[in-house]
Amino acid sequence: MSETFKAILVSRDAEKKQSVAVTDLTEADLMEGDVTIAVEATTVNYKDGLAISGKAPVIRRWPLVPGIDFAGTVTSSSHADWRAGDKVILNGWGVGETHFGAYAGRARVKGDWLVPLPQGMSPHDAMAVGTAGYTAMLCVMALERHGILPDRGPVVVTGAAGGVGSVAVSILSSLGYHVIASTGRNAESPYLINLGAAEVISRDELAQPAKPLAKERWAGGIDAVGSHTLANVLSMTSYGGAVAACGLAGGMDLPTSVAPFILRGVSLLGIDSVMAPKAVRLEAWRRIGTDLDLQKLAGLSTTIGFDGIIDAAHDIVDGKIRGRVVVDM
Ligand code: NDP
Repeated sequence: MSETFKAILVSRDAEKKQSVAVTDLTEADLMEGDVTIAVEATTVNYKDGLAISGKAPVIRRWPLVPGIDFAGTVTSSSHADWRAGDKVILNGWGVGETHFGAYAGRARVKGDWLVPLPQGMSPHDAMAVGTAGYTAMLCVMALERHGILPDRGPVVVTGAAGGVGSVAVSILSSLGYHVIASTGRNAESPYLINLGAAEVISRDELAQPAKPLAKERWAGGIDAVGSHTLANVLSMTSYGGAVAACGLAGGMDLPTSVAPFILRGVSLLGIDSVMAPKAVRLEAWRRIGTDLDLQKLAGLSTTIGFDGIIDAAHDIVDGKIRGRVVVDM
C-alpha cells in the first residue's frame, strides 16, 4: 500500500546527537507485526517526554517512531484474535522504545499485545486514561490485593496533579478511599479536590531526607515520584500498610532504611505496566471501565492534535502538564 501518513521520527547521527522530525511514511515502512491499526488517539506520557527530549535513554532502536500507547481500529490482521474493524488499545510492550510507536497514522504490532477497547469507551476516552491511568489502576489493584481497602485509613498519592496521580486520585475517591493528594503546584488544589481528594498537602512535606520512621499518617500510598518522596511516604505509612511505587519523576534513587519494613511490617509493591501479563491488563481495563467516572476523566484531560505532540513532550518533563494529554490523530 503506498498511501502515506504523518509520523514523528526520532533519529540519531554518528555523534549520537538526537533529532526529531515530522515525516511521511507508508505501511511498508512499519516494523513487523501481525496486526495493522489506524491510530485514532494517543497520548503524551512522561516516558514519551523522556524519549522525545532525549533526557533518558528510552529509545533503544534508531530511527524510531515514539509513542508508548494508542487506541484505534484494526485495518488488517493475520492474528486469530483480531479482524479488520476491531477497536483496540495498546500499552507498552516496548512500543515507542524498541518498536515503532503511536505517533503515526498507522501502527503495526503483535496481536498478543492488544486488548479490546472496553464497551462504552471511545478511543479518545481510552487515551485520556492511557498508560498513566492504566498504571494508576495497577497500583490500586496492588493495594487492594494487599488488603489496603478504604476502611484501613487514608491513602496518599504523590505527583498528584500529573497523569498517574490524577487518575489515581479519581479512582481511589470513587472507590471510597480518603485520598491525600501531594502536589508541588498549590494552585492545583481545587482541581485535585474536584477529582475527589479529601486533603491536599505540599510536595515539600515529603521532599527532605526521610527519617527511618515518622508519625504514621496513611495506610497506603501510590507513588509516582521516587527518591526522598517515596522514602518519606514509607516512613509515614502505618503498621501493616503498603505503598505501590510506579514512578521516578523526582529521581530514580530510594534513600530509605529497612525500618518501615522490619518495624512496621510495611510493604513496598513494585508496579510495571510495560510487560504486565495480558490477564492483568484485561482486568485493569475492565476495572477502569467500571470504577473510573468518565465525567471526571474528561475533567482531567486536555486534547491536542498531532502537531502539538512535540511541544507537549517537552512540557511533561518540565512538570508543566496537568492531568492527561490526549492526542486526537
Ligand atoms: P506526569 O509528568 O504527568 O506526572 C508526574 C508528576 O510528578 C508531576 O505532575 C508532578 O506532580 C510530580 N513531579 C514532577 N517532578 C517532580 C520532582 N522533581 N519532585 C517531586 N515531584 C515531581 O507523569 P506521569 O503521571 O505520566 O508519570 C509519572 C511517573 O510514573 C513517571 O516517572 C513515569 O515514568 C512513571 N510511570 C511508570 C509506569 C510504570 O509502568 N511503572 C507507567 C507510567 C508512568 P505535582 O505537580 O502534582 O507535584
